[in-house]
Amino acid sequence: MSFTIHGLAVARGIAIGRAVLVASSRVDVAHYFIDPEHVNAEIRRIANARDAVVQELQHLLQHMPKDAPHELAAILEVHLMLLEDQTLIDGVKHWIRDRLYNAEWALSTQYETVARQFDEMDDIYLRERKGDLEQVVERILRHMKGLPDATQAHARTSGVQAEMVDHTDTPLILVAHDLSPADMLTFKQSVFVGFITDVGGKTSHTAIVARSLDIPAIVGARTASQLVQQDDWVILDGDAGVMIVDPSPIVLEEYAFKQRQTTLDRERLSRLRTTPCVTLDGERIELLANIELPGDADAALGVGAVGVGLFRSEFLFMGRDRDLPGEEEQFKAYCRAIEGMKGLPVTIRTIDIGADKPLDRGAKEPTYLNPALGLRAIRWSLADPDMFLTQLRAMLRAAAYGPVKIMIPMLAHLGEIRQTLHHIDEARNQLRAKGVSFGPVQIGAMIEVPAAALMLDTFLRHFDFLSLGTNDLIQYTLAIDRADEEVAHLYDPMHPAVLRLIASTIAAGAASGKAVSVCGEMAGDPQYTKLLLGLGLRQFSMHPTQVLRVKQEVLRADTRKLVGWARSLLASDAPSLNPPA
Ligand code: PEP
Ligand code: MG
Repeated sequence: MSFTIHGLAVARGIAIGRAVLVASSRVDVAHYFIDPEHVNAEIRRIANARDAVVQELQHLLQHMPKDAPHELAAILEVHLMLLEDQTLIDGVKHWIRDRLYNAEWALSTQYETVARQFDEMDDIYLRERKGDLEQVVERILRHMKGLPDATQAHARTSGVQAEMVDHTDTPLILVAHDLSPADMLTFKQSVFVGFITDVGGKTSHTAIVARSLDIPAIVGARTASQLVQQDDWVILDGDAGVMIVDPSPIVLEEYAFKQRQTTLDRERLSRLRTTPCVTLDGERIELLANIELPGDADAALGVGAVGVGLFRSEFLFMGRDRDLPGEEEQFKAYCRAIEGMKGLPVTIRTIDIGADKPLDRGAKEPTYLNPALGLRAIRWSLADPDMFLTQLRAMLRAAAYGPVKIMIPMLAHLGEIRQTLHHIDEARNQLRAKGVSFGPVQIGAMIEVPAAALMLDTFLRHFDFLSLGTNDLIQYTLAIDRADEEVAHLYDPMHPAVLRLIASTIAAGAASGKAVSVCGEMAGDPQYTKLLLGLGLRQFSMHPTQVLRVKQEVLRADTRKLVGWARSLLASDAPSLNPPA
């Protein structure tokens, strides 16, 4: 039966394919297709792991301490019973044989299928066996990964890891309850053509990375991962934020047509790549790229970006289970980005970890704390000077190989500004003392906390340039958690308070002769291009995927007509977007 699921549209386009449900397992699960000749070996691999876990549990049962609670033996017996269960075994074989899933993927898929059957049972006792099944599956997965069993290691990682090598032609659409930004990064090399998650807001970092993949995506779809079944045919409409499950042939045909239109639109846009970015009245506008990894520089150059306006360096640090990259590794990564940009400027932001970008995927804050208000970004860096100095040295050294700007996230206090600048001086002194060469850098601050936007003179006195992080500026001005789909409807870039903070920052930059850019998602959303131009913005930084769409708006804009209109919006208590022709 066909039905639709609604969520928040975060990345445009239409995807049609089969649903791949990814369980939020406590253990990272690799997802890849195997060659048909490896089917038997893969089945043997999982059978061996299951046998080893059976032995492990039998050993535990036989050596149970005398004072162990008697329920423990009963639980282990249930687990042994589940391990012998034919439905689990046959199901796993089916996913390996018929779908060519690797063993871990087959096991987690079969777990999802059986877990649903447990959910539907009337008998509470049987329903609760789902938890046991989860533990058994986790034990097998841990064994296959060579990890200590869960009784010894409690590290909880909720991520998924995709090492996709596709041996089938069917497009796959990822359906998950949640994905961390680090998970999303692993999908950069994957075969998924779209994705949908139950949770997340439009400017959550997961959504931001999804947008950079340039595949249609929906977040905040609440129960999608429960409603969609493994292998269902689905249409994902990233423009409307709608997923159609099990569509009829007529609907499929209609969307296939839309998909072809989108491809044609993209081809048309790509012709703008080398067109000078100048408005109708001759204003030159700089379109820069936001990147997460050094390799993204290719995509930035590919769309004609004139530099990197935001390199989110924290992605080098994430998903590594606290094994942080040292100075040398960071230096090489920054150099790769610089080299990739072929002489164009690269703005590297110091680590912005925390909130929805935890360093350690498993780390959970107590629910009464809001990590977005906690030890995040520059606060985190200042709390760990060794780590911060390591990063600063790597950046300064990389600056010897091309134009580099250093940008600091989430500053709010004069004390933080002073400490930060002091650390940058110290990093230079450390390099000098060791005789290591480094290059000149401009230093800039992100304006993304209302406090910063209300003390611009202080910021302009201390920094060479400013960049508006509108994602956080909106979050903190309106007290809306940007990753929370429950309050997504209140996340409003057009709120008068937000517009006034943006406008005053751009104006203060212009008055002082210092560059101001916008690097939040607003900069890459064509519906705001004319408004930002009208407010005087001349530098926009966005995902490479957005550059040509924004350029199209710039080419059609006349800033002389936009200034008065933008001013009238600032004066309104209910501004709405309807630019003059
Ligand atoms: C922002 O807050 O607008 C920004 C660009 O930084 P991030 O999205 O990484 O927090
Ligand atoms: Mg930010």
